Amino acid sequence: MGVIGVYGVSSASTVIYYGLHNLQHRGQEGAGIATFDSTGQCRRFRGLGLMDKIFDPASISHLEGNIGIGAVRYANVSHGGLDNVQPLFFHHKSGDFAIAGDGNVVNSRQLADYLEDHGTIFQTATDSEILAHLIKKDGNEDRIVNIVNALNMMEGGFSFIIMTKNRLYACRDKYGIKPLCLGKLADGYVVSSESCAFDIIGATFIRDITPGEIVTIDDKGLRTRQYSRFSKHRMCSMEYIYFARPDSDIDGCNVHAYRKEAGRRLYRENPVEADIVVGVPESSLSAAMGFSEESGIPYEMGLIKHKYVGRTFIQPVQEMRELGVKMKLSPVKSIVSGKRIALVDDSIVRGTTSLKIVKLLREAGAKEVHVRIASPMMTHPCFYGVDTSTPEELLCSHRTLEEACQAIGADSLGFLSPESTNASCFGCAEPCMACFTGDYPTALYNEITK
Ligand code: SF4
Repeated sequence: MGVIGVYGVSSASTVIYYGLHNLQHRGQEGAGIATFDSTGQCRRFRGLGLMDKIFDPASISHLEGNIGIGAVRYANVSHGGLDNVQPLFFHHKSGDFAIAGDGNVVNSRQLADYLEDHGTIFQTATDSEILAHLIKKDGNEDRIVNIVNALNMMEGGFSFIIMTKNRLYACRDKYGIKPLCLGKLADGYVVSSESCAFDIIGATFIRDITPGEIVTIDDKGLRTRQYSRFSKHRMCSMEYIYFARPDSDIDGCNVHAYRKEAGRRLYRENPVEADIVVGVPESSLSAAMGFSEESGIPYEMGLIKHKYVGRTFIQPVQEMRELGVKMKLSPVKSIVSGKRIALVDDSIVRGTTSLKIVKLLREAGAKEVHVRIASPMMTHPCFYGVDTSTPEELLCSHRTLEEACQAIGADSLGFLSPESTNASCFGCAEPCMACFTGDYPTALYNEITK
């Protein structure tokens, strides 16, 4: 998921629309924008698919107002459909409000049970709806106290932007697993999952929202508070490895710079004799550049990505994923034919993509394909909003290195060590690497009580 919110900016919906375009890589199942107009009426438009398919000038201009939030949705298998596309909008006697969220609350089932036992009827499967009901459950009039109390009941990796008719609240989980940053735009402010959304709308990056922080934005300006005394900094390493755009800076670390350094270290740990380095477009290109620079092996454009086809990892159904790989990548025969290729990819999740790409390169005449992965073997599922599905589906959860190599049909296979993955990260001393190590930053309530 990717979220954005703007305050005090004319034509907020247009600004959000362009910002969401730069967050499209974070979710392609659906998108939505909500604003409050000058009369205090909330307007919202949502749809399924890519931004260009959902919005047109008429739908954007209908969303009047100088305050708004938006989201692109990244779905897992069970939580698809328009109902779960955010922002969600809520009526309440104390004032209407809307919420857009990223990530996953790991005790959501317990919280939903508690709320249902007290009369709540849910209309979506989102954590944002749980947050809304937690905020309003006590009837307290002090909204920030309600938000603090609600967030303290939630465990997991998340960011939320809450909008009332005259205020934004930007909240980041106390472990700092999900990214959220703050920028300035003209006389107003903008918050976003990634700083790359600021560039397209001309906003200036101010800073990252810190773990456990709530930033309140209204006509008095900015205010900040911590919702919990506990806070850690366990930023998701997969944001650097795979998810985020290379032009984003997260917690003080540029994503491209991270990946390039990871590529350099990858070669040092897993050297190979090859004629060319080929990166898997697009999230692996920075790592491939680093690998090429460190090894002295020339970088070549051996694979071309067809734009405007969804990322395979994001598409929720296996058959769609397999079809997606065929649709989205083409080998450049004249470049790869007869060559020993060092194929650099950012990660292996299920192995579907790697198997197909190795096959594509061989069919195009590659003599050898040596796969180098700029992250460790993924052995554990993610419970913080990345749909890596079950451990059984992960290629490396039940295979040795040799077996994994065989399964994807490569001549050799090498991974970056956890130490180097961590060391490449300049922005966070102790990032979450649970999908590689099993060391989860939080308790896993939903899993324990299954
Ligand atoms: S488990 Fe992996 S994907 Fe999930 S938050 Fe941690 S590093 Fe990111």
